[in-house]
Amino acid sequence: MKKTCYVTTPIYYSSGNVHIGNSYTTIACDVFARFHRSLGYDTLFLTGMDEHGLKIEEAATAAGKTPQQLVDELAETTEQLWKDMKISYNDFIRTSEDRHIRVVQKIFNSLQEKGDIYLGTYEGDYCVSCEAFFTKTQLNEDGTCPDCGKPTRKVQEECYFLRLSKYQNQLLKHIKTNPDFIQPETRRNEVVSFIERGLEDLAVSRTSFRWGIPVSADSKHIIYVWIDALSNYLSALGYLSDNDSLYQKYWVNGEKIVHVVGKDIIRFHAVYWPIMLMALNVPIRFKLYAHGWVLMKEGKMSKSVGNIIYPREVIARYGLDALRLYLIKEMPLGNDCVFSYDRFIEKYNADLANDLGNLLNRTLTMINKYFSGKLKKPEHNYYAGDPDLENVIDKTIKKYLDSFANFRFQTGLNELWQLINRTNKYIDETTPWVVAKFDSRLAELNSILYHLYESLRLTAIMLWPVIPDTAETMFKEIGLSVQDFRYLHYGQTKSVQVAREPKILFKRLDIEEELKKNQTADLKSLINIDDFNKLDLRVGEVIEAEKMAKSDKLLILKIKIESEVRQIVSGLAESYPSESLIGKKLIVVANLKPVKIRGYLSEGMILTAEGDNLPLEVLEVKKHNSYSKVN
Ligand SMILES: [Zn+2]
Repeated sequence: MKKTCYVTTPIYYSSGNVHIGNSYTTIACDVFARFHRSLGYDTLFLTGMDEHGLKIEEAATAAGKTPQQLVDELAETTEQLWKDMKISYNDFIRTSEDRHIRVVQKIFNSLQEKGDIYLGTYEGDYCVSCEAFFTKTQLNEDGTCPDCGKPTRKVQEECYFLRLSKYQNQLLKHIKTNPDFIQPETRRNEVVSFIERGLEDLAVSRTSFRWGIPVSADSKHIIYVWIDALSNYLSALGYLSDNDSLYQKYWVNGEKIVHVVGKDIIRFHAVYWPIMLMALNVPIRFKLYAHGWVLMKEGKMSKSVGNIIYPREVIARYGLDALRLYLIKEMPLGNDCVFSYDRFIEKYNADLANDLGNLLNRTLTMINKYFSGKLKKPEHNYYAGDPDLENVIDKTIKKYLDSFANFRFQTGLNELWQLINRTNKYIDETTPWVVAKFDSRLAELNSILYHLYESLRLTAIMLWPVIPDTAETMFKEIGLSVQDFRYLHYGQTKSVQVAREPKILFKRLDIEEELKKNQTADLKSLINIDDFNKLDLRVGEVIEAEKMAKSDKLLILKIKIESEVRQIVSGLAESYPSESLIGKKLIVVANLKPVKIRGYLSEGMILTAEGDNLPLEVLEVKKHNSYSKVN
């Protein structure tokens, strides 16, 4: 029977816009899955969406949809993105699916029957926007939420709890006897010290929203995200369902089970999840890899800084494989990686256009020129440096296999690029164009080109998990169909016929020109205070508001700024009924050049916030009036 590999991404919270950080996790899992398929493992790769909770409920209401309609749309967008990125997942689990809901309810009931979930009263501090409870020691000094900084409020409510405390020692023991359970080690140490400080029982239900999975015997309680979302790793396998053959195959008897998560959600996966499994008597078979973040030069990506990069914009400019390679090759396990367009273009030119692209092109051109595209396996070696190249090939294959099996893709790819560079150097050492001048040295020339050919073939095999499109093109160019790791040895090719007109895989980019194009995509350029002072921002009070005829979006507002009344056309109609704006004091850009919008004069602009599937929201002041300064 084949060995099995089960690899999972976290299920992403439904928000429609997957940025480059989530893309990294998903691509990394894809590399891992493809690697194991090439290795001959029966591989199941799971990804999906976390679709419940208050934020979805609110966003749906604001958009005039049911939560189910909203998450259906978001799931479709996300699946399409993964397909376009060649993510080879086998299953896409959604927490609003029946197959998931049934299992979560059974898990909850079974934990309750065992006494590991009990009904209690939660007393303490609650953050409405994070939907999270906090203990006194977790709050910021001023009592605000440690996650979002907003004020928390005291609540006392009935709630179900999971007995974490009961399993604390058992979990510590598991971590200590399985040193590779949590990787890398720094993350493991953080988890250990978190547990050693003492685990408090976890509130696992909420009564503050409806969009979620109800506790079957007490339906005013909704099962909160911990149990709901984490259970996806088992519900997708049919655990506790009529047919649990996947669970038996990939989990109970599985060879490799790997959860990949960002370092920000490690606690859920390293503490809550294994404790749930212990309580359910499910064997803890998985390993956890916690990776770092994709940072921008300015630090973390954030909407408010405006430096979020979305994968589609990078792919549209430079192609999918340039993005996949950059993220996988630049991210060391356990650390963060920085995404910047100048580094991206530099690496594109060095790794793809120069090192790899040139090697393929030079080799194929010579095979065509000297042997009409045909090569035979040589009887023996001719050049004294051959054993060295063959040793480098062997060593690279070993290190590559070992690194990739342990999620150390950067290490493996750096090895692979050393082979590519060693092979380029082999061309300079052997000078095939000189050897070609002597008819008597034809067999030697064939042997040299065969070494180059084999090195390229093996490179294509090793690249396939990372950049499948490029690897497939390479195979086509060298006259083969895609090979798996059974063919990962030097000298396996007997004879070949390469493409007669080699393609250029990657064209060199002009760095200056590219950076100019990207100025709008990167962070907006810095301004000084004088630039800012050009804006005349005012508080203006809405005195009239009406919908523009034949427009779904536009409102015509009359706004009083000091003693003057302005007309401003604004796209707020989908977010606010017109009468609800009357009396509001908004922030207005008062010195924007007047324009006509659909025939109506608009003298200024109202500041709004947008994003996150939420409706536009106006920026409003409460105490001040139109005589106050805004800056
Ligand atoms: Zn909060």
